[in-house]
Amino acid sequence: IFEYNNAYGDIDFKTKSQNNETTLEKFLDYIVGDAFEHNIFIVLKDIHGLLNKPEIIARLKSISEKNIYSTDFYATIFIVSAVLEIPVELENYITIVDMPTPDKNEVIEIIKKYGKDLKLEMMDDLISELALDFKGLTEFQIIQILNLAYQDGGFIDERDKSLILLEKEQVIKKSGMVEIVNFKESINDIGGLENLKEWLEKKEKIFNRLDKALRFGVDIPKGIMIIGMPGCGKSLTAKATARLFNVPLLRLDVGRLLGKYVGESETNMRRALSIAEQISPCVLWIDEIEKAFSGIGESGGASDVTTRLFGHFLTWIQEKESTVFIVATANDISKLPPEFLRKGRFDELFFVDLPNAEERRKIFEIHLKKRKKWIKSIDTIKLLKETEGFNGADIEAVIKESIENAF
Ligand code: ATP
Repeated sequence: IFEYNNAYGDIDFKTKSQNNETTLEKFLDYIVGDAFEHNIFIVLKDIHGLLNKPEIIARLKSISEKNIYSTDFYATIFIVSAVLEIPVELENYITIVDMPTPDKNEVIEIIKKYGKDLKLEMMDDLISELALDFKGLTEFQIIQILNLAYQDGGFIDERDKSLILLEKEQVIKKSGMVEIVNFKESINDIGGLENLKEWLEKKEKIFNRLDKALRFGVDIPKGIMIIGMPGCGKSLTAKATARLFNVPLLRLDVGRLLGKYVGESETNMRRALSIAEQISPCVLWIDEIEKAFSGIGESGGASDVTTRLFGHFLTWIQEKESTVFIVATANDISKLPPEFLRKGRFDELFFVDLPNAEERRKIFEIHLKKRKKWIKSIDTIKLLKETEGFNGADIEAVIKESIENAF
């Protein structure tokens, strides 16, 4: 095994001692120039910064080809990197292997081993719940959090879940692809939309006891699509869902994923989705999804990219095994590709319309109460008549302005 590390040069694979600071070109030349009777492995670490250099691309290609055309040359190259960036010239020579973070059973083993080493008493139920929360983190991160939890009281219990959440927030902040949304709203802040709320409350029972639900045979909830008029509470619902499920809310801005280099947008999308999976359980909110995926099916540079992104996203939703709950919101259904609305993508599709009189009454009540101005003597009948055709945001604006005027 021959190892090369971008920071240290040529490395002895077994002892990890640095031999010398050769350049990658020289290192590869030495291998191409030699003949090996046996299969050799070449491990290249963190060289993504060098992969755009023609000298390197040419050498990697020639090693690959020598495998096929020379009888005495068997070399397999492993490029190990945290970033997926493959030059177009090498695409056909490379197989991508994702190294997943530990799965639930592996996490359970890590926690059990940790507990055993420190002679901690931990119930199986607790280990199982913690394992679900730890999913998406690396072994190193898991042990770090266990250490923190242990030092903070000499035991590990349910309350340490908040530590896990904090660590996950760190992961998001560092990535810059998705943002974590802070909010105060809960399901009680939504006036009307009774069907939607009822549906979410049913899912909440699953989400908050995920481990038990999965063992019982319940499918992991995938997500919802909410379509409808602006200002009728779509964003509000996304926030209320995260609060109800007791998980972080992440917002994905698909516009920000679009990069200027070939393949960059896909790489960004892969990263964003894998971050959401790392953070899971979480709610992933995709606002105005129709804007992000408009232009699909048309030909031409930019729309080709969106079509590919869209395809990737659809497959991801379809095959998703993680507990990322998607809340996609859209204003204009006619701009959405029909593939989106097929069964199997989202669990359910909701249309939110302008609120009717009863719903408007609730919205008045919610926003007046929020501002401590809800009094019985308010002539709601008159208000409801005069606000026919108003959406929730309009009603909120009316209240704000009236209070300001009264003051
Ligand atoms: P857009 O498509 O323009 O983003 P939206 O449907 O996402 O609109 P929201 O951002 O959820 O609209 O609503 C704007 C504000 O209007 C909310 O913050 C809330 O204060 C108020 N509002 C809208 N609908 C309701 C409702 N059903 N109940 C209570 N308040 C509401």
